Amino acid sequence: MKRYLLVALPVAILSCISIYLLAMPDKLPMPNKIEKPADDLRERLTPEQYYVTQQKGTEAAFTGEYWNHHEAGMYRCVVCGVELFASESKFDSGCGWPSFYEAANDKVVDTNTDTSHGMVRDEIVCDNCGAHLGHVFPDGPKPTGLRYCVNSASLTFEPKKD
Ligand SMILES: [Zn+2]
Repeated sequence: MKRYLLVALPVAILSCISIYLLAMPDKLPMPNKIEKPADDLRERLTPEQYYVTQQKGTEAAFTGEYWNHHEAGMYRCVVCGVELFASESKFDSGCGWPSFYEAANDKVVDTNTDTSHGMVRDEIVCDNCGAHLGHVFPDGPKPTGLRYCVNSASLTFEPKKD
């Protein structure tokens, strides 16, 4: 009886562990999409950052932190921290919001058709977390001819280290 237990117990434990390990991947949350509960964001973001990124708001022109900001570095999503726009692609559009002619790469920004306020515009959102960023217009400079018009409230800035 004792010898039987000595064999059976480790076998039972091992099979429990392997069943658990095999079932694990289904139980893990998707690691590539970051979804934060809304309440946490309300605590972490300023009211304006929350209004712009979560409720598709727009900050008033010439009031944001970055419309007239010229440091070298990277602009990241204020919600999830992903790199969105490099300072090299920033230009003075005169519109009162930070403007870029291209995103940091072609996967980080997604566009949706926005028909609010009686206009048809292309809304831009963070592809990683869905935060509203602003709009993209076809009147930008070369080489892309695009103007990514972004709310400062959707961004954080990371200066380039030298
Ligand atoms: Zn994001």
